[in-house]
Amino acid sequence: MIPKRFVAAALLFAALYFLVPAKAAPNPAWTTPFPPFRIAGNLYYVGSEDLASYLIVTPKGGILINSNLESSPPLIRKSVEALGFHFSEIKILLISHAHYDHCAGGAEILRETHAKYEVMAPDVSVVESGGRTDFNYANDKSMRFPPAHVDRILYDGDTISLGGTVLTAHLTAGHTKGTTTWTLDEPEAGRTLHVVIVGGPNVNPGYKLVRNPTYPRITADYRHQFEILKSLPCDIFLGAHGGYFDLAEKYPRFKAGDRTAFTDPEGYKAYIADRKQAFETELKKQSGK
Ligand SMILES: [Zn+2]
Repeated sequence: MIPKRFVAAALLFAALYFLVPAKAAPNPAWTTPFPPFRIAGNLYYVGSEDLASYLIVTPKGGILINSNLESSPPLIRKSVEALGFHFSEIKILLISHAHYDHCAGGAEILRETHAKYEVMAPDVSVVESGGRTDFNYANDKSMRFPPAHVDRILYDGDTISLGGTVLTAHLTAGHTKGTTTWTLDEPEAGRTLHVVIVGGPNVNPGYKLVRNPTYPRITADYRHQFEILKSLPCDIFLGAHGGYFDLAEKYPRFKAGDRTAFTDPEGYKAYIADRKQAFETELKKQSGK
């Protein structure tokens, strides 16, 4: 007889062994569902607690920004459908930047929707190689994701137009070579609100800012990014991660009836200044000054 306790422990071990995914998400907030909601005009939040995805609904179909992790598409689909829209009506897929936490679900979403994939030029090879040409993570298998074909290559200032909505792609490189900040205008309560969706202003651990052989102009690109971000008119402050714009703090206020919770021009300015400072501090450290 094998003691029952032993059998239970063995079963638990076997279950855990097979259940642990090959690439565990490092942050539980990345996979925690979040209630989908309308931010303003035709712009909706359909991401998780921290991985932001945005749906823009037009009479000609939808635009989706960010496909998130490889495991995220069912979560995003559920959010889109909970809002009363059809996933198959998504016509264009965009990203904040070509890291697996914003684009790994792309291949699956393109299969399900037949959307056109539109990506900023310097991030195209990263997306199409599943991360193999990333300047920093090319040899890091844990950062890989399913490759996906890009249908339209975007350049700084290009616009995406669908059903009367126009998005502008701003190249704000540094975090990746093609990091994209999206802007659009939304009518809300008789006003036009400028929306900024920040693409990625952070210096990741291990990023080489000085004499980087795979990204020689990284420092100039970060500096240029902060100039661009500073110059963008912003009423509604959003970004690739909920943490950028305090989603967890603003959403409860919004839900309680404060329709202006995401209108935060001062918060935007403070965030950009803070990220620029963090970049300059890291640069100083790496320069040995
Ligand atoms: Zn990233």
